Amino acid sequence: MNIHEYQAKELFTEFGIPVPAGKAVQNVEQFQAAVDSISGEKIVVKSQIHAGGRGKGTFTDGYKGGVKVVDSKEAALDAGKAMLGNTLVTHQTGPKGREVKTVYFTEASAIAKEYYLAILLDRENSQPVFIASTEGGMDIEKVAAETPEKIARIHVDPAGGLHPFHKRAVAFALGLTTKEQLKQMDKLLTGLYDLFWAKDCALVEINPLITTPEGDIVALDAKVNFDSNALYRHPEIVALRDLGEEDPKEIEASKSGLSYIALDGNIACLVNGAGLAMATMDIIKHFGGNPANFLDVGGGANEQQVTEAFRIILSDPNVEGILVNIFGGIMSCKTIALGIIGAAKNVELNVPLVVRLEGNEVKEGKKLLDESGLKLTSADSLADAAKKIVELIQK
Ligand code: ADP
Ligand code: MG
Repeated sequence: MNIHEYQAKELFTEFGIPVPAGKAVQNVEQFQAAVDSISGEKIVVKSQIHAGGRGKGTFTDGYKGGVKVVDSKEAALDAGKAMLGNTLVTHQTGPKGREVKTVYFTEASAIAKEYYLAILLDRENSQPVFIASTEGGMDIEKVAAETPEKIARIHVDPAGGLHPFHKRAVAFALGLTTKEQLKQMDKLLTGLYDLFWAKDCALVEINPLITTPEGDIVALDAKVNFDSNALYRHPEIVALRDLGEEDPKEIEASKSGLSYIALDGNIACLVNGAGLAMATMDIIKHFGGNPANFLDVGGGANEQQVTEAFRIILSDPNVEGILVNIFGGIMSCKTIALGIIGAAKNVELNVPLVVRLEGNEVKEGKKLLDESGLKLTSADSLADAAKKIVELIQK
């Protein structure tokens, strides 16, 4: 689960990580008061969407920059008005972009140098790892691709916890080695590690972390991503969830206990088990098709869930064909057949449907489908199913 920058910065403050003061607002009437609360002539106006690359983004009406540093309160109001309700496209949003529903006004910091600092879970050795680079700012992806040696990784064994030597290693990797800098980094890194650990984060990223000409170290941007499996322990974090930033189909699916992720292809997949879902997407690609989604109905789905899955799939206007690929292990193929038949009654099935059933009660399942009078194509293997659906949508 993601949150907005302004929410992440509230967490930073709670954990002693320094950030510029700011105010987030949702409507124009609140702009003046928010701008008046900022001290200093310069103000930074920041679009709040769940995507990075805002600084270099462009709005769909041509307005440039989802993050603007301006010289006066009037200019801040103008920038805020240009952003609110407008749709921002960045390299992380996809071409459709995201509507800006919140604008964040913050104090501007004078920047001596920008750094990159993050902590995330290294799944290869099951340890939190700090990622630090002197090449912070807006192009960290480029640094990782072209000069990976400029990115330092410092692992922390969670059994032993965070020690001063870890913090010194991170500070030295960033070249922040004066006594005063080490002192500030010590506090900041303790806060960062504690936040990561206490809130079950998957990622906490500061890009840029900066030094000011006066020698202060400040987090100018904040991105926090939480491990969804641990959210039950953090009602205060769940309260920060912004459903407006999530795909409505994904929200519907999670309500029904389905794992659904929208993709940009045109062949919908309805599969049980994450591994089989991945394999199904791969084989569709192999035969030249493009999956419209990842949908795992789980090992023990019932008829209602299968119907709901069909409803969600068919609400996507890009879907031109459906591939059902079920291996009945725990689940009976009969349940799937009944779900498909139920769905066909409730929603109009106006695209080709290929069904591959295998496993538990497969004969009974196939029989139910045959007798239903539904227009569908049966397939015998994964490859056969993928080939058939790719052919059918090309017709
Ligand atoms: P994004 O990563 O989405 O582009 P950032 O918050 O990192 O958004 O902002 C982009 C750039 O804007 C930063 O790299 C920094 O140079 C500048 N910036 C952001 N916040 C401030 C601030 N409070 N004071 C001065 N400059 C800022
Ligand atoms: Mg940034």
